[in-house]
Amino acid sequence: MGDSPKSEETSEKLANRKQIYRASTPRRLLRRTGDKLVDYMNEGARDNAYPDYGAYWRDVQFMDTHNLKELCESLWKELEPLYMQLHAYVRRKLILKYSVDYPELKLTDKGTIPAHLLGNMWAQTWQNIFDIVVPYPNAEESDGNVALIKQDYDVMDMVHLADEFYQSMGLSPMTQEFWDNSIMVKPNDGRGFQCHASAFDIYNGHDFRIKMCTEVNMHDFETIHHEMGHVQYFMEYSDQPAIYREGANCAFHEAIGDTISLSVMTDTHLTKIGLNPKEDKQKDINSLMKMALEKIAFLPFGLLIDRWRWDLFNGTIDEKNLNSMWWKYRKQYQGLSPPVQRTEADFDPGAKYHVPANSPYICYFISFISQFQFYEALCAASEHQGPLHQCDFYQSKAAGKLLGKMLRMGSSRPWQDAMQTITGQREISTSSIREYFRPLMKWLEQQNQGEHIGWE
Ligand SMILES: [Zn+2]
Repeated sequence: MGDSPKSEETSEKLANRKQIYRASTPRRLLRRTGDKLVDYMNEGARDNAYPDYGAYWRDVQFMDTHNLKELCESLWKELEPLYMQLHAYVRRKLILKYSVDYPELKLTDKGTIPAHLLGNMWAQTWQNIFDIVVPYPNAEESDGNVALIKQDYDVMDMVHLADEFYQSMGLSPMTQEFWDNSIMVKPNDGRGFQCHASAFDIYNGHDFRIKMCTEVNMHDFETIHHEMGHVQYFMEYSDQPAIYREGANCAFHEAIGDTISLSVMTDTHLTKIGLNPKEDKQKDINSLMKMALEKIAFLPFGLLIDRWRWDLFNGTIDEKNLNSMWWKYRKQYQGLSPPVQRTEADFDPGAKYHVPANSPYICYFISFISQFQFYEALCAASEHQGPLHQCDFYQSKAAGKLLGKMLRMGSSRPWQDAMQTITGQREISTSSIREYFRPLMKWLEQQNQGEHIGWE
């Protein structure tokens, strides 16, 4: 950390990342196809009495939430202060690392962060630069990735461990068909294979599958729990009529596995299963930081993808400002700038899977907030004492019972009823996520004293 010497490897890596950025952006063809697609989708939405496709999308994803757009903005406003603290802290660490040797990056303590420095192709989550921003470098002796490898875990061990966690709460085991039909490792028989992890309901009540190119590391360990959360939902609502075999809304489907992961990834739990040798106070802040690089860094990205698409559908954005508006939102919400000059000949949103796949994204934004509500509720059911971020509800049948009750409803009731079943109240609220990160917020505010918060 700090002023590292300019090594060949780092400058090659940086140049590489810029190159990847240039090469990964689908351009004219996608733009032209996209323009037509927007017209067709809007036409379909208007035939169904919606002003545009964005309005239709918001309505089908969140029935009874007619103000979804405004709701998202106000949720974001409540979380923006935490994001800004994280942004300022990460920016300072990146300045320390890069500014002397790479003046061409033009890093300043009041500026935006170039998107290619955050360790992720879309700069959507930042855990990959944890080594650069780690609050207490000396406390970070235990690394889950190393522990997995040292203990000879293979992919299927990780899948069984995830299954065991759900079962420990009294939830259903994965079915025989799941084990027979899932693909957990990328096939090497030469066939084309889409590696984006996903879960499938075959709708016969017992055949559920995951497809994933799993590798032995903590990130994929977490993703297994995420996908298995979808399968738990499939299994629990399989007695509903086919039309209700869906999540109460799209965010809840995304939130289930993540809620479980919040418990799995606590130092408390990782210590129990031997992937974390010891706990201490500095490691506690380190763990919260790691979690914030995933959950807090993601929030503005999760919001802006559909903010951009809603504006595309309603005509605020058109083919003349397609890419510049993308970067306007990237700056406004995330405080990022492009690594190289962008023009309207580029189409950067097309590099994100969900855009060409035409898959809604706001679900993830809401999911990242409501999963903390679910987590807090399950923690309460398990009679957890102490700071929220240390709660592990492993083996709590009471927590499992509560979660199962909500999952079984599927989409047979409005999502507010499902929310009430598990949390006792009916709104999407930021109070749990803010409570979870409260110790980190306090720590960041101390670290950032005298620092410029925000970007110009
Ligand atoms: Zn998912």
